Amino acid sequence: MARASEDFMKLQSGYLFPEVARRIRAWQERNPGESVMKLSIGNTTEALPRFIAEEMKRKIDLLMDRNTYTGYGDEQGDTPLRDALAEHYQREYGVTLPSSAFFVSDGAKSDAANIQSIFSRRSIPAIQDPAYPVYVDSNVAGGHTGLYDAAADGYSGIVYMKADASNGFVAEPPKEHADIIYLCFPNNPTGAVATKEQLARFVDYAHREKAVIIFDSAYSDYIETKGIPHSIYEIEGARDCAIEIGSFSKNAGFTGVRLGWTIVPEELEAEDAPKGTLHRLWNRRQCTFFNGASNVAQAGGIAALSQTGRRECLDLVGYYKENARIIREGVGKIGLECYGGVDSPYIWTSCPDSMTSWDFFDFLLDKAHVAVTPGSGFGSAGEGFVRISAYGHREDVERAVASIRENLR
Ligand code: PLP
Repeated sequence: MARASEDFMKLQSGYLFPEVARRIRAWQERNPGESVMKLSIGNTTEALPRFIAEEMKRKIDLLMDRNTYTGYGDEQGDTPLRDALAEHYQREYGVTLPSSAFFVSDGAKSDAANIQSIFSRRSIPAIQDPAYPVYVDSNVAGGHTGLYDAAADGYSGIVYMKADASNGFVAEPPKEHADIIYLCFPNNPTGAVATKEQLARFVDYAHREKAVIIFDSAYSDYIETKGIPHSIYEIEGARDCAIEIGSFSKNAGFTGVRLGWTIVPEELEAEDAPKGTLHRLWNRRQCTFFNGASNVAQAGGIAALSQTGRRECLDLVGYYKENARIIREGVGKIGLECYGGVDSPYIWTSCPDSMTSWDFFDFLLDKAHVAVTPGSGFGSAGEGFVRISAYGHREDVERAVASIRENLR
């Protein structure tokens, strides 16, 4: 008799965004004719940059001709894209990595979810609270945790690293032992960034505990504050204890096109995994379970890393960052505490009058017709906050901010 996975069965139902969507739908049914202004999701809204899109069209033309058609490519990604990624890290971050360290993928989410599979089930994950939900859920589904503990509002077997206003939303390394440490900077959902010194403490911890850091840099192009690292490899010693996951979603608008990468250096080592082992296992995993990213998307990735493409990406990022400024300043004026939104598209806002995150979500929906994301959906430490997203057309963002200001004075 087939049985469902006991690890998947541990997952709590109601992934955050479906619940947000359900409440919006229910509100719309109760308020026919009214529309909801959405500042709730991390989905890009603006058109693909022109040069990058044209390069993808050119790739389609090549695929339409049998003389230039290509089918499956290398599972690790096309060599010109891996080379372009290595050059990009060298040029922009001063980080020297061989192109063989880069594994191209269909986006950061699947890599962030799958990476736990190359570690022992006995590995203890350490995850910031609040966090992008994929890190917790993939560790639960991958069998790295115990059951959900409702009283503790978390899973046993996970070391939760609290990130709150007292530490500027950047956790300290845990006091106890952990094996796989998830970090995401600029952070989703808090918008916080980590300094070199803060990241260096995690690198020291990883060396001490023979742990591995999984560094999610999906929003690195949003960093404008001088001196903030864009890549974990800007920290000395990170190459032998860190994996980095990147994405073209939030800078090139590839949320629908789908393209990302994961860096697993040859030098990476762990408790019983000498240098080269984890690199080899990730290569094995990708070659077995993945058939390579779309060749059209990869042509777009190469274009996005060219000089013209980089200009276009930074313009697109600038558009969303201007939205973030409008939200931060507008919402700040009505006296709500706002964090993030400078080096990030997310504004982490405290709820007024001791409301819970879901209460404030419902209140904003009812009063201002604006949807945000309840902070508690990212972990128990997110309670009392909502995440406001800068992804939206400018006119919609301006309308939403004006409505919040008018209705919450
Ligand atoms: N990592 C973080 C922190 C994110 O917030 C997101 C998307 O919202 C992703 C990864 C997913 O990126 P991708 O579209 O490349 O799968």
